[in-house]
Amino acid sequence: MAATPQGTSIYLDHAATTPCDPRVVEAMLPYFTTFFGNPGSRNHRFGWEAESAVDEAREAVAALLGADEKEIIFTSGATEANNIAIKGGAYMYEKAPAGSGQCRGHIISCTIEHKAVLDPCKRLQKEGFEVTFLEPPADGIITAEMVKAAMREDTILVSIMWANNEIGTINEIPQIGALCHERDVLFHTDATQWAGKMPVDVQRDNIDLLSMSGHKIYGPKGVGALYVRRRRPRVRLQALMDGGGQERGFRPGTLNVTGIVGLGAAARIAREQMDADAQRLLALRRRLEERITSRLTNIQVNGHAEKRLPHISNISFAFVEGESLMMACKDIAVSSGSACTSASLEPSYVLKGLGVGDELAHSSLRMSLGRGTTQAEVDHAADLIVESVKRLRELSPLFDMYNEGIDLSKVEWGHH
Ligand code: PMP
Repeated sequence: MAATPQGTSIYLDHAATTPCDPRVVEAMLPYFTTFFGNPGSRNHRFGWEAESAVDEAREAVAALLGADEKEIIFTSGATEANNIAIKGGAYMYEKAPAGSGQCRGHIISCTIEHKAVLDPCKRLQKEGFEVTFLEPPADGIITAEMVKAAMREDTILVSIMWANNEIGTINEIPQIGALCHERDVLFHTDATQWAGKMPVDVQRDNIDLLSMSGHKIYGPKGVGALYVRRRRPRVRLQALMDGGGQERGFRPGTLNVTGIVGLGAAARIAREQMDADAQRLLALRRRLEERITSRLTNIQVNGHAEKRLPHISNISFAFVEGESLMMACKDIAVSSGSACTSASLEPSYVLKGLGVGDELAHSSLRMSLGRGTTQAEVDHAADLIVESVKRLRELSPLFDMYNEGIDLSKVEWGHH
């Protein structure tokens, strides 16, 4: 039996995942049954049909990024694309071999990247590479200046995300790319939250490697793509897996034809609709924030005020406990961090990375709007959050003390 969502939830968690666009599902369906061939079967019609569908999807993804179709590698998602780019790039461009005792190469990334970038970087650190994790300022933006200051003689790779998944902040990607090209340093960007929503042109934006994911752009889960520059410079990567040589050897294994067809359809729709979607979502997000910030004190919207994706809003509410707030707002599906870390009660490392204190980081919500979000939903969500915060604060002794003018930072709490 198919699972049905409980109650009348309003979905404001599009940064975690998006529903498939019905047009995407429609495009995929024939490839499960009628056109089920293996694109690697070069000697019969079934194989050719599947191959031509994959080719079309590759063209659509390439067009979305301003790339050539030969530069697109299909993967299982952004996590795999990041791994292939970061580890495959580091191994190929290393300055000294493993076990030599010397630094194998220097990499620059950032403390508020997704785990799918942080963890490959940390593995490389253990294997003898050195990694500088840039610490963003309070507005969350990584600038080209910051990257420039961290560059060394032996820097081989820079990996900076285009837009942050928790706070939506937008980094100086074209400028960082230009800097890397000046210095002949490989430049990777995790564009999972950006590509398909905002314009990309890998030439104009000076990108060598770019990761993206189907399920963030109204396509299916378990499929994504890595852009690998082929000219000026031709980027080489060491493959992480061995097998049948598919995807120019970078990602061997029978292609996920249905998923790839879905990603292609999602990319085509994204290209047509992204401007209209972005405009509409920006107006809705402003409305959401206005409706919340105008009715509550002691809150802060996290991340740079303007340099943010149109559809993500991350707000901290002082004097309420994040989990209680989430419980009080059960009707709206939001997140207290990224989907990957919301199972733990740890405050978000992204917010902490911006210098938000533990308390406030604990009482934060990420709301991310999507193509299906309506104004009525936004209004209802805002009202529910405002009411819940007010109610929880009425129960909060800390909020009482604050209102009586007591400086909470100077209170000496009793020890038990
Ligand atoms: N990078 C970022 C910025 C993300 O937001 C996500 C998804 N949460 C990923 C990588 C991982 O993507 P995937 O689920 O396709 O592996």
